[in-house]
Amino acid sequence: MQLQHDPDLERFRGEIRQFIAEVLPREIQARHRTKVRNNAIVEDQLEWMRILHSHGRSAPHWPVEFGGCGWSPQQLFVFNEELYAADAPEFDWAGTHMLGPVLYTFGSKALQDRFLPAIREGRYNWAQGFSEPGSGSDLASLRTYAELRGDVYVVNGQKIWTSGASEAEWGFFLVRTDRSVKPQRGISFLIIKLDTPGVTVREIPQINGEGHVCEIFLENVEVPADQLIGEPGMGWTYAKFLLEHERTASSFIYWSKRELDRLLEIARGEIVEGAPLAEDPRFQARFAKLKADLLALEWSVLRVLAKEETGYPEAAAASVLKIRGSELQQEITTLQLDALGPKALRYFPPPHPPAPSAVWPDYAASRATVALITRAATIYGGTKQVQKNILAKLAYDL
Ligand SMILES: Cc1cc2nc3c(=O)[nH]c(=O)nc-3n(C[C@H](O)[C@H](O)[C@H](O)COP(=O)(O)OP(=O)(O)OC[C@H]3O[C@@H](n4cnc5c(N)ncnc54)[C@H](O)[C@@H]3O)c2cc1C
Repeated sequence: MQLQHDPDLERFRGEIRQFIAEVLPREIQARHRTKVRNNAIVEDQLEWMRILHSHGRSAPHWPVEFGGCGWSPQQLFVFNEELYAADAPEFDWAGTHMLGPVLYTFGSKALQDRFLPAIREGRYNWAQGFSEPGSGSDLASLRTYAELRGDVYVVNGQKIWTSGASEAEWGFFLVRTDRSVKPQRGISFLIIKLDTPGVTVREIPQINGEGHVCEIFLENVEVPADQLIGEPGMGWTYAKFLLEHERTASSFIYWSKRELDRLLEIARGEIVEGAPLAEDPRFQARFAKLKADLLALEWSVLRVLAKEETGYPEAAAASVLKIRGSELQQEITTLQLDALGPKALRYFPPPHPPAPSAVWPDYAASRATVALITRAATIYGGTKQVQKNILAKLAYDL
């Protein structure tokens, strides 16, 4: 079997690699490489968005008429791969990958003009307020209610597990605007500023020591009615559009590739019984299996991105990629912990790790924090069990 990338795409990769090397500030790169938290350092992430924006590349997958570069999904894939390989901060995921496409596909011209430039310029952080206590997998049962009174919606309810909400200025929410129709028909998509009176954001302490996921309480929050995207009652359709996209992207090949490289770095640096761990045949066997699995997943993703005829429905591919991608993230970080042994347990308190030393090399920083958060990869964006249900339904025509 011979796997070959498209030569044009490889030329594009070369150009992107050089571009990143030229514009990524060294201090941001160094901070990102050794950060002690799982998520990006917010100031660096926004600064990086602004730098990319100044080169017209902060939302490259958006259509040109909305300020993007109109890149193909394969080009975006390569761009992401190179960003991760260079230890650049991640994109503003919620803004550029979730809200942006919903806005330019379904939003009014007024909302597009108001928010698309702000997303591209990295002006704010965004939070995704979908899940509620009791409404995660069964999202259509959500109860947060937005009642239209004159030219405002008055919103009451609670959201949970909202990533990054305590560091975000704005959020996009699913709210119920009509209780009289079947659940999916009564949901709308509303943009809410998080410092509006009546909004309370509370961090949830996580097992890895962070408080990145939050609860959001909404009590008589008045939201201008023109911040509703598209048509009232169509929020479920827009959310499905967004989640399908999230699921394909959440195979996170580029992330796993970077972490596999880090794993090798760890194994070369850790000495076990007088020799680098990387020379241990048991380690090599586990590493080789992960590498082969990742390669197989990567080519599956590339086939989907190329819209190659697979004979399977698109939803099946999205679910399979989500399952395997999230499992691999967990397997790679587990082997990182095994390779580090007790060093993985060292906790580096924020904001910055201590200077690297032979006893605590910088490749050990935040490994346990990251490994613990990858437990959530099989939960967010649709749990593994629910993805398996989707596959079973498609396979057996249930
Ligand atoms: C780290 C993290 C970040 C998150 N970020 C966000 C965010 O930014 N915004 C947001 O809106 N949400 C976010 N979420 C929420 C996430 O989308 C939900 O946790 C997820 O959809 C599962 O919902 P739940 O937690 O209510 O679990 P439940 O739906 O209650 O599921 C509990 C268990 O039951 C299983 N289960 C449920 N239904 C079925 C079924 N029909 N058949 C078989 N098994 C079933 C599930 O697989 C799971 O194992 C995040 C979650 C995590 C962990």
